[in-house]
Amino acid sequence: MDNSPDTNSTTAPDSLAARAQNALELLHSLQFEYLAEMGVADVSDLPPLALQWHIGMRPEELHEQLRANAQQIASDSAAVIPGRVYCYHCRRADCEHSTQAGVGLVFAGYGDTGRPKWEELFNFLTNVGDDRIDLLFEKPPRLLAKVIGRKRLIAEQLVAFGRGHMTYYIIGQVVAGYLRIGHARTALTVQIVEDREHRLFTQVMAPSVVVEALADAPEHTGSTFFRVFDALREIDHQVTAVATAWQSAGGRQERLEVREKIFGYLRHLAHSIERKGRQSRRRTPHAELRSRQQRPVHKAFDDVQAARPEDFFRDSRTDSIVVTGKNGRSHVYNERGRHITSLCLLRDEFQRRRNRRRYVPLPGETIKQFVAAVNAAQPDK
Ligand SMILES: [Zn+2]
Repeated sequence: MDNSPDTNSTTAPDSLAARAQNALELLHSLQFEYLAEMGVADVSDLPPLALQWHIGMRPEELHEQLRANAQQIASDSAAVIPGRVYCYHCRRADCEHSTQAGVGLVFAGYGDTGRPKWEELFNFLTNVGDDRIDLLFEKPPRLLAKVIGRKRLIAEQLVAFGRGHMTYYIIGQVVAGYLRIGHARTALTVQIVEDREHRLFTQVMAPSVVVEALADAPEHTGSTFFRVFDALREIDHQVTAVATAWQSAGGRQERLEVREKIFGYLRHLAHSIERKGRQSRRRTPHAELRSRQQRPVHKAFDDVQAARPEDFFRDSRTDSIVVTGKNGRSHVYNERGRHITSLCLLRDEFQRRRNRRRYVPLPGETIKQFVAAVNAAQPDK
């Protein structure tokens, strides 16, 4: 122990060391609380978690790091990560196979060893015998969408590599495209997935340019992107509404009925994407009203009331205000407190914008003014 001549010359180093030890223990338990909040209960096998400290560091920075660490751990152990397919080969949802490597690719099913296969939309539609592919190359090109059942997606998959497993059970999906962004022809895959706990998820697999364009599509222009976004929001809403019935459905007959409903939603989604892509300006007032009612305006209002100061952000690009709510919802408002849209589906995109500092925390004074504006603007209350 006595390997340094100074060790016993004064008691100050010992007391400093003890205080450092206290600080470490405090950080340790704080990080565990963040993990618990993210639902990570098993902390027996955690990788090293990094924290950076600097003089003048603000509490929000520490909060952000602790939260990011917890989020990382939570997503490492999750089978359903928004926007990613579970890979039965690597047994995780964040490997290189779990996302598309090109903007025009759609999920084509699992290979024999459980690896997700991605194919160009054009090829995939040809392989499933869709005879309308010429329309993809018309001028202007048509937006096509097709419902794909589970059977086709697991046709090659072997039992040893996840066939029939409930880790990530795809009930059915819609593939759609092409959405033009600049010169790129982009495609998307929308899956309804069940997990081990029989929870239902609407998963949107799309390149980040598409997710970004969907999240930013202005509501009033009748743009194709907004109409697709609207259709996605509708199916997310429908699936959420049926989720409880699905979880409690005991008998085979009941499950068949809910499953039939889900396929109805998928068919409706495909139809909406195609129809809306074509008749971009011909929406009836009735359809407009119905769509407006499905928007989670009231949830948005409740989420704003329940939000903590750290849930408010400014979108530095559009200057709108973003409020995060429960269950991965986030709501976009203008400065005058009018609800613009909600991004329930686009959880990943939200985090990406946080990480890239496009969303910056809102100062306390602005939060107060904003909440007052929301309360004043709230319709029928
Ligand atoms: Zn993989």
